Amino acid sequence: MTEIPRSHPRYASLVARERVADGVKKGLTSTQGLIAQGRGEAFDYLLGERTTPSAAEAEKAAAAMLLLAERPALSVNGNVAALVPEEMVELAWALNVPLEVNLFHRTEERVGKIARLLREQGAVRVLGEEPDTSVPGLDHARALATRGGIYDADVVLIPLEDGDRCEALVAMGKKVIAIDLNPLARTSRKATISIVDNIVRAVPNLTAAVRELSQTGPEQLQEILDSYDNASVLRRSVQEMMSHLQAQFREE
Ligand code: ATP
Repeated sequence: MTEIPRSHPRYASLVARERVADGVKKGLTSTQGLIAQGRGEAFDYLLGERTTPSAAEAEKAAAAMLLLAERPALSVNGNVAALVPEEMVELAWALNVPLEVNLFHRTEERVGKIARLLREQGAVRVLGEEPDTSVPGLDHARALATRGGIYDADVVLIPLEDGDRCEALVAMGKKVIAIDLNPLARTSRKATISIVDNIVRAVPNLTAAVRELSQTGPEQLQEILDSYDNASVLRRSVQEMMSHLQAQFREE
């Protein structure tokens, strides 16, 4: 990967860009994944490349939802595998849940490479290589799912997912937690909890919140969820972008 000086003011963003480019070279990420990363970078730039207060609230609610779930599952695609493979495995460990490789531009080779990478990082249960069912309402390749993973889950974490799939999972009656920097994306609008944060910050924050809440009783976890309002969180994320932009002009 290209060496990026730590002193660079946008170090984290440039490292993430390199990781996704490297993911394409290694055959983990599709070329379309580069475009998704570019779109994410633009929204992150508008947010100020930070976890905003509304995102932190969504992350806490997501941790509570995952801890209360009976059968949660975590979805991993090519961008996720390039950016946060270790962090996704750590989250899976913290929750004791399976990871499922789930690709928009599915090839068996890429699924295998991502599954291998996750196992190398210490993952125990990795699904997706042998899908045995499908999510209703989607075309064949995108519908593929695995029993015991996303298909049977009551709560699914979908980082960087497309809107159709998010909608189809919600239509199956699942609670869906999205990680997507675009608060206007269909995915963010349809999800039960929308984390408008960069996945490189969101996943470690989520794991930290899961650990922090792990001794909290179910009633208190439910209280966190009852007081959570996703529509308000999405509105606030747009306001946070606007305030950040206005602050830039005031500084000049
Ligand atoms: P939708 O179907 O929901 O409207 P889309 O077509 O905009 O989605 P894609 O082009 O597949 O979706 O892009 C994936 C989404 O992932 C984009 O909304 C983008 O902002 C977001 N994204 C990309 N990189 C990251 C990242 N590193 N962290 C969080 N979100 C990201």
